[in-house]
Amino acid sequence: MTTGRKPLVAGNWKMNFDHLEATYFVQKLAWTLRDARFDYRDCEVALFPSFTSIRSVQVLVEADDLKIRYGAQNVSVTNQGAFTGDISADMLSRLGCSYVIVGHSERRKYHPEDDANIVDQVRAVLAADMTPILCVGESFEERRQGIELDFAVGQVRDVTRDLNEAEAARLIVAYEPVWAIGTGMVATAEAAQDAAQAIREGLAAQFGAKVSDGVRILYGGSVTSRNAGELIAMSDVDGFLVGGASLDVDEMARICRLV
Ligand code: PGA
Repeated sequence: MTTGRKPLVAGNWKMNFDHLEATYFVQKLAWTLRDARFDYRDCEVALFPSFTSIRSVQVLVEADDLKIRYGAQNVSVTNQGAFTGDISADMLSRLGCSYVIVGHSERRKYHPEDDANIVDQVRAVLAADMTPILCVGESFEERRQGIELDFAVGQVRDVTRDLNEAEAARLIVAYEPVWAIGTGMVATAEAAQDAAQAIREGLAAQFGAKVSDGVRILYGGSVTSRNAGELIAMSDVDGFLVGGASLDVDEMARICRLV
C-alpha cells in the first residue's frame, strides 16, 4: 500500500447470514474495532451482505452512527421496469450502499455475465453515485500458461475502455485469481504485487498516471490474518476483498488491524 490511497478491507459474505446474523455481526465488528489499535481514518471497512440484509444493516449503521460501510454483491443493469427478481442501482443507493461488487468470478461463472453486461453494471453503479469494485483475475489455466498478467489487465481494459477519466478515477479494482478463491491457496505477495502493478500500469496507459495512482487495487483470494500483513506491505496492494475469513468477526477485525 502506498500513502495517499486509503486502504479498504471489504468483506464479501456471498450467500451467507440472514438479516439477524448480519446485524449481529456488524454490531460486534464495530464494537471490536472501537479501541486505540484501529482507526477508520487509516482504513475503510465495508461489508457486503445479501440483498435481504442490506436494509437491516442500514438501519443499524444509521441508528448507531457506525463508520462501517456496506454495499451489494451484484446489481441489475437497468434501473426499473419488467425485470422480475432484479435489484437496481438506484434501489441500492437509496439503502445507503457505498459500493457494489461487479464481475465477481462466481457471477461470471454461474450467471450469464459477460464483459458487455459487466460494463453496463459499472455504468449503472457510477450513475447511482456508488463505487464499483470490479473483480478480475485469471484461472489456473491462464496461470499455467504464464499469461496471468495480460489476462487480468485485459479484463480491466475490456470493461473500462469506454469510460472517461473521471469515471475511471472512481473505480476500485479487485485482483482475485480464480484459483485462489475459497481454496486456501493464496497468491504470494510478489504475485499479488505483480498483478496489481500491471493493472495499475494498464490504467495509466489508458487514463494517465493521475487516475491510475489514485485507483485502489485490492487483492482477493483466501486472505486471512496469517497472510494479510505480507500482502498489504506490497506497494500496489491497497486492501482486500475477503470471502470466507470475513464470516468470522474476530478474524475480520484482525485483518482490519493489519491494514
Ligand atoms: P475467499 O473469497 O476469501 O473465500 O477466497 C474471496 C472472494 O471471493 O471475494
